[in-house]
Amino acid sequence: MVFLRDMNHATTPKESPLRSFTAFAADRTIREIDSETPVPTGKEVLLRTTHSGVCHSDIHARDGYFDLGSRGKLSLASRGMGESFVMGHEVVGEVLAVGAEVTDRKIGDRVLLYPWLGCTECVQCVNGAENACGAPRSIGIQLPGGYADHVLVPHEKYLLDIEGLDPAWAATLACSGVTSFSAINKILPLPPEAPVAIIGAGGVGLSAVAILKALGHKNIIAIDLNPANLALATDAGATQTLQIDAESSAATIGKSLNARPAGIIDFVNNSQTAAIGFDWLNKGGIMVQVGLFGGELVIPTAMISMKMITIQGSFVGNLGELHQLVELAKSGQIPRSTPHSGSLSADGVRDALDALENRLISGRVVLESSN
Ligand SMILES: [Zn+2]
Ligand SMILES: [Zn+2]
Repeated sequence: MVFLRDMNHATTPKESPLRSFTAFAADRTIREIDSETPVPTGKEVLLRTTHSGVCHSDIHARDGYFDLGSRGKLSLASRGMGESFVMGHEVVGEVLAVGAEVTDRKIGDRVLLYPWLGCTECVQCVNGAENACGAPRSIGIQLPGGYADHVLVPHEKYLLDIEGLDPAWAATLACSGVTSFSAINKILPLPPEAPVAIIGAGGVGLSAVAILKALGHKNIIAIDLNPANLALATDAGATQTLQIDAESSAATIGKSLNARPAGIIDFVNNSQTAAIGFDWLNKGGIMVQVGLFGGELVIPTAMISMKMITIQGSFVGNLGELHQLVELAKSGQIPRSTPHSGSLSADGVRDALDALENRLISGRVVLESSN
């Protein structure tokens, strides 16, 4: 790929087409596809993808649906996705070309992409919560994403400076990082000594523990099935940990821990963990449901009134939150993990998704371009 580098104005692709590693939900394959390289206009920016994180949700995207328990399956076709699409929503890249109206980005800038775009016109979008838009246009979901050698970004405002950060780690802030951060924003402010529980100490849960600690919280309980995850949670800043099993309930947890959390963030959010959260939560508390593992929660409605609790869902985060998180990362307060690396190719995407699906790998995988 060679571009005429015409300073800050739109540039013209001269050679090879855009290569993407496209998922086909019908047969779950990932194939290399060539298409025309877009030329940015207006406020658009064309990135050369250098790093592209692999998210657990891409496994569901490759399958073409999410599990909704007794309500069946949520097909991605109903969410505005075609039968084939370019996934990849944790993208760091280099600015390769800019539209004529771009003022704050120049060719060569290394940037992190905020992918959770909305319609830009509804109340949620106007209020800065594009991730809560009813007509999403997320990059790597509805719009072509980072499993490609180039990504067209609709507006320069979705690009964040990451100077001083490891680009592979910075890529993960766009989904797993901001997912933790936004969920934490929903339970805070709380007094630093108020008990807060994190259910599920995998990659996203661990980053929540670390961010809570960085924000000065002093009473963080981590719960997981896996003792290795709990050891990592202690390292990240958990003040108490508890290993649960498939039989655990709020009653059994209550026998081991005498604290009732004021806030619970459930990064698993299956039938068991959601029930634990509801029964364990203190009066007036908030439970934030994040995980997409599927399941259902049956609760006595009168208990919602009597316990005066809030049940809130949280999905990724907004652009302002990603800016705050990047600043927190630059301040050095969040422990920096080193993601597993892979190659940004059809094989690389497939191998990473297979490894995640079969639980052969823990932590994040970030694919890197060899160009
Ligand atoms: Zn993700
Ligand atoms: Zn909108």
